Amino acid sequence: MVCPYCFAPVQPAWTVCNTCSKPLSAPCPHCGAPAGPDDDICAKCRAVVRYRCPACAAVVAPSVKRCERCGAKLKEFWKSQGL
Ligand SMILES: [Zn+2]
Ligand SMILES: [Zn+2]
Ligand SMILES: [Zn+2]
Repeated sequence: MVCPYCFAPVQPAWTVCNTCSKPLSAPCPHCGAPAGPDDDICAKCRAVVRYRCPACAAVVAPSVKRCERCGAKLKEFWKSQGL
């Protein structure tokens, strides 16, 4: 298992990444069901829990202009996601 933000190895029991301190599990923004580091889509309601950079697969915040990790421009990506 790896951190979805920095790709450092993480243990299933951890709630935050030891390397980048970001939370490893996040509730679904739509229904509030808990979603683990690998659950980009909510298992319960199929809502998008987190978006990933199309270039490096790091998690990116919705509508940011560039990926924090690889610097890829995300304008077209957000357009393709309907955001
Ligand atoms: Zn991390
Ligand atoms: Zn949900
Ligand atoms: Zn990236």
